[in-house]
Amino acid sequence: MSYISVFGIFVADISFVGKRIPTVGESMIGSKYNISPGGKGCNQATAIAKLGGKVSFISKIGKDAYGDMAIKILSENKIEISAVDIDPKSQTGVAGIMLDETTGKNAINVIVGAPATLTIKDLEKHFNIIDKSEIFLTQLETPVGVTLECLKKAKENNVLTILNPAPAAKIDNQFFKYVDYFTPNETEAEFYTDIKILNIEDAKKAAKSLIQKGLKKIIITLGEKGLFYTDGKEEIFIEATKVKAIDTIGAGDAFNGGFAYALLQKKPIKEALIFANKVAGLSTTKQGAGNAMPSLEEVNKLTN
Ligand code: ADP
Repeated sequence: MSYISVFGIFVADISFVGKRIPTVGESMIGSKYNISPGGKGCNQATAIAKLGGKVSFISKIGKDAYGDMAIKILSENKIEISAVDIDPKSQTGVAGIMLDETTGKNAINVIVGAPATLTIKDLEKHFNIIDKSEIFLTQLETPVGVTLECLKKAKENNVLTILNPAPAAKIDNQFFKYVDYFTPNETEAEFYTDIKILNIEDAKKAAKSLIQKGLKKIIITLGEKGLFYTDGKEEIFIEATKVKAIDTIGAGDAFNGGFAYALLQKKPIKEALIFANKVAGLSTTKQGAGNAMPSLEEVNKLTN
């Protein structure tokens, strides 16, 4: 059965909720805390699995309590984990999130841990998983050099590639030829083009500039405004789903996972974008990132 390979990181999101974010030197009593799965790669793999897609996650974790949590959550979601290395010498990633319950604002410190030590040699063991997959999906939370090598390997084996270039990091333009779909959000698109994106016209300009740099197909996600796609000829704008958004953390991950799933089902581009837009919209109606990904049934029920 055809599947998607996702290379990325798992982190345990540990959030502390309170009336505000404490200031330097301050100690305050908060209202609750929560530990949930995070990391763009893990979130995107979870989005695919929740929709019923077959997915193999490629990553590295430590041999500790949060590593156990990663294995438990990935397995519960039926994500294939034979390429998740366990390194007793490293820690599993964690993100410390201070959340202001009044404004929804947050301050986050991410400790990438084990996957920060990944080398090309580590990945060589898992190249067969990438080669045999239909689609390879990745982000930039793993070491950039290793990620780019994986994209190259995937493309050399005719695997369809999606790069969600987040968080924004410098990429050598020579690697753009290994990317089929490039999916920045507004802030990331600005980083790669120096064009500030305030409206759809700006998104068009930025996408055009990315195509001139050698990228093939661009999807700029525009938060509550929706998204813009172009391959240099066709242009598609899709408005965001009309939902009651309560937490937009992980919306981009839901979009990327949903889009990869739709391509695996061989949906034509416009249908795939509409589908992923629904997956992302629904993910904003629930708290959390990995835990907020919708099922196929929920997506199919959504009419707008
Ligand atoms: P990121 O989470 O990476 O910053 P965006 O904020 O651009 O990405 O959101 C990704 C996608 O999630 C959007 O293109 C849209 O489909 C969906 N989305 C985000 N915010 C909302 C919202 N408030 N209402 C409906 N859909 C949303």
